[in-house]
Amino acid sequence: MDILNLRSIDSRVNQYLACESLINKFFSLVGECKEDCLNGTSCCNYNFFIGISKDVSEVFDSEREKLYGGLDFGMPCAYLSEKGCRLKSYKSPACISFACNPLIGYLMEQYNIDWNYDEIRLALEDILEGLAIQEEVDDLKSKIKNFISIDEKSKV
Ligand code: SF4
Ligand code: SF4
Repeated sequence: MDILNLRSIDSRVNQYLACESLINKFFSLVGECKEDCLNGTSCCNYNFFIGISKDVSEVFDSEREKLYGGLDFGMPCAYLSEKGCRLKSYKSPACISFACNPLIGYLMEQYNIDWNYDEIRLALEDILEGLAIQEEVDDLKSKIKNFISIDEKSKV
């Protein structure tokens, strides 16, 4: 069976980054968090970036520092800045996938998109931990690509 944990950590991280990039693209299209927090307060109130599978956490820590600088322990999350999150990649599954209830409601109302935070977070965790088979990785990518095609979906 094609199990990712039989491959290198690099391979698992690359699969994860490809999914992260698609999810970033999706959220940049819907763009609500950037414009105005629908919940009235940011959800980045804790160091949620720490939830990374142990055997890849060294890679993540090193790449984050190289790309985005050190930690700022004066902030609610050490990667939070006045302009928002400093991480453009190498976020944790929880950070990448999270949408609060108002945002989930907005996505359903405006685009008929059912954003299942737990399902997406677990799928991302499985990829990083090497528990996902190739078909599951492909399924997640297809799901996000389908969401990205919101231009073609009629707003309800
Ligand atoms: S996910 Fe919700 S709480 Fe977090 S920044 Fe976006 S709108 Fe605000
Ligand atoms: S790493 Fe970024 S997205 Fe995650 S909690 Fe911190 S500021 Fe928010």
